[in-house]
Amino acid sequence: MFLLIVVLSVGASMAALWSQAPSFDLLDLWALPLLSVMLLGLQLLLSRSLIRFETALSAAFLGACLYVLLALSHQFRVMPPAARTLSENTYWFAVLYTSVFYVYPPRHAVRAALAILGTAALVCVWHLSFTVPEATRLSLIGASVQFLMVGGVLVLIQATFGAQRAQLLATRTAALVDLLTGIANRRAAEERLRQLAARGAVYTVVLFDIDHFKQINDRHGHAAGDVVLRGVAQLAQTLLPQGGMVARWGGEEFLLILPVLGDTQVRRLLNTLRNELRQQRHGEVVGVTACFGVANAASGEVPETVVARADEAMYSAKQQGRNDIRLADWRRSATGA
Ligand code: GH3
Ligand code: MG
Ligand code: MG
Repeated sequence: MFLLIVVLSVGASMAALWSQAPSFDLLDLWALPLLSVMLLGLQLLLSRSLIRFETALSAAFLGACLYVLLALSHQFRVMPPAARTLSENTYWFAVLYTSVFYVYPPRHAVRAALAILGTAALVCVWHLSFTVPEATRLSLIGASVQFLMVGGVLVLIQATFGAQRAQLLATRTAALVDLLTGIANRRAAEERLRQLAARGAVYTVVLFDIDHFKQINDRHGHAAGDVVLRGVAQLAQTLLPQGGMVARWGGEEFLLILPVLGDTQVRRLLNTLRNELRQQRHGEVVGVTACFGVANAASGEVPETVVARADEAMYSAKQQGRNDIRLADWRRSATGA
């Protein structure tokens, strides 16, 4: 998407310069090539993963803001004496007022849009008061008021939609969180697995299930069982390596989605988790054990089969007496064969 923005913006800049040939505007002559170089530089950094998408978008947006505001002020200076309207570069403000809501979260976006509108108003008032000749002032006041009012209406419309978007985002976030434990829920984990599979990424999945959890409920009550589930979720979250995800897969089953790990690394991580689980005090319950099934996804493998292999491995640990780690057909999956 960023590449498309870059291509369109660089294309528009070049077209603007081309349409001015051979007598170029002084501001456009340096600002448009500079803006194009900046956008291409951001695209390069982004393609090499040296910056985040949000950072690139934000930098591109600020660059564009600076240019259109400078161009607004500049047009008053170079305006022919008989000019009665503002020039076409004011069209680009509409792009800023709408795109700001994609660059920033809704509340910040409203502030940023109002800051742009306010600055544009100050620029207009300044020039209309001090630099515009008396003869054209009245028509230019009309043109400026129209320009600012269109901006105001656009901000208002976008702010209304922005508030709805914020609600949608909040609803979506809530739909991906497990109510009891506060960690990701199964839907979120399935979504992450789908994304990884779509990218052809390789990853490691660990499915773990608390041993004899029914007995905890039976002995200490359902509420005490809930405390255990929260404690286990928090512990798994704390020990999670960077880029990993832990989700409550169902009842007392949890799923870890990890960057691809070697045999030794995964055992080290899960042994730490097992030790901590055994020592952790969950309200009145001290220490639980669990069975862990581990599977490595091969590139292009559908997530369902990866999870099914982890599930199979986990059940084999249950059958072998519980409190254990089992790796699913590790060599085959690790080589992607
Ligand atoms: P195993 O070692 O074979 O896994 O035995 P288990 O007792 O852990 O497994 P089983 O499937 O027999 O029982 C799981 C229990 O988990 C039964 C169910 O009531 C309980 N459970 C599921 N969800 C929740 C929950 O949200 N809170 C509480 N407290 N208990 C739950
Ligand atoms: Mg269980
Ligand atoms: Mg279970």
